[in-house]
Amino acid sequence: MKRIYFLLVISLAVAMSAARGYAQSPMPDGLTEETLRLNYIFTGTDKEAVISLYNMNRSEGWAGRRVNMTEAPLRGNGQIILKDSATCKILYANSFSTLFQEWQATEEAVKTRKSFENVFLVPMPSAPATITIELYDIHNQVCATFTHEVKPDDILIKKIGVSEKWLASAREGADKDFAEKEPMPYRYMRRGGTPEECIDVAIVAEGYTADEMEIFYKDAKKATDDILAYEPYKGMKEKFNFIAVGIPSQESGVSIPHNKDWKKTALESHFDTFYMDRYLTTLHLFKLHDALAGIPYEHIIILANTDNYGGGGIFNSYVLSAAHNKWASPVVVHEFGHSFGGLADEYFYDDMYSPYYLPDVEPWEQNITTLADFSSKWADMIKGDWKDAVVSKADQKTDTWKKDFKDLKSYKVGVYEGGGYQSEGVYRPYPTCRMRDNAYPDFCPVCRRAIERLIDFYTTEVSSHK
Ligand SMILES: [Zn+2]
Repeated sequence: MKRIYFLLVISLAVAMSAARGYAQSPMPDGLTEETLRLNYIFTGTDKEAVISLYNMNRSEGWAGRRVNMTEAPLRGNGQIILKDSATCKILYANSFSTLFQEWQATEEAVKTRKSFENVFLVPMPSAPATITIELYDIHNQVCATFTHEVKPDDILIKKIGVSEKWLASAREGADKDFAEKEPMPYRYMRRGGTPEECIDVAIVAEGYTADEMEIFYKDAKKATDDILAYEPYKGMKEKFNFIAVGIPSQESGVSIPHNKDWKKTALESHFDTFYMDRYLTTLHLFKLHDALAGIPYEHIIILANTDNYGGGGIFNSYVLSAAHNKWASPVVVHEFGHSFGGLADEYFYDDMYSPYYLPDVEPWEQNITTLADFSSKWADMIKGDWKDAVVSKADQKTDTWKKDFKDLKSYKVGVYEGGGYQSEGVYRPYPTCRMRDNAYPDFCPVCRRAIERLIDFYTTEVSSHK
């Protein structure tokens, strides 16, 4: 009896230390508790891409994931892979999309060459390592690659950010001058746990003057609540930290080129990206990450102080969202679906066939399919043969379907033609979704599952990945 009791005590102690050990997971071998910030310039045209290293920075602490380190969360339009130079073992991998690749599909890219800033955060290796960046084209083939070495003792890797102690004193005042001091003043909007345990989302002010900072913190709280009101975030909110970072701008509002209105703002963002009036982005990623130095962050939401409608979201890069119009709440959730969830747009244009997704290539985004490899998508969520669940473009034009759609009668997971901007050849999982329509107040079941899987990937070790 005593023996059993003793064993029970031991196994309890082991279980408790395992739980504690999990929450405070040490970094895997070969990686340290420091962040390496890699600044690149991507240059090219519609047909070519050249990746160049601009410089490297380092900062204390690692706010990124501590589990499933050697695999990228999704395929993405590109990946960054960190390998130990001596053993060639993968230490860390991540995936992303870029504004540069979106630009490569525009008319302008046929006629001219342009450069774009890109920033990636990886854990600092403890020994010399190689970094490889790969970009993928619409055929899902590698179209550009670049490998360089990083030595942890390189004296030209500048240290940025400051210690926790300095941070605590900086937090006292909200009126620090952006140009002179770092880090920026910040406030937690929602704290699920430590940066080591949680997914850290920084919400950054753009176009708010120092006098308007309280408006920003209110907007940031609203954006946090908007996102956490949706499943699956709602049920998993303890896995998130939201931190509002009050960067002051010289002028109030953001630039709207089609109104010939240019403003002096912290991140120099503007509408009319690629001449699309509602597309709001910033090209100044170095500046954005400079402003976040010293703050624990992984994902970025930039709130723009404007009532003009628009936004943009780039997978594992950032969201830019207008804070003051009647669609501000659904738009920030939609754009975060792109930047955090890696989800595709489920809307499409009836009158336009843009061959963005090729019929023989299965897109990596989890909420659309070309049927090239549908078994890798949501076939398991359809009862019976999925081929019977296909609703073609023509089927969606019948009066019965329109009526059912209005009455929510046909709201079940299926294979609905139209999605990813294409009315033909691309299919979505549900009649409507947060990724399709601003008025629909939910993610479809497939998007919900995709986001939930990502949250799990970032926070829970999957044994098959070890
Ligand atoms: Zn969806």
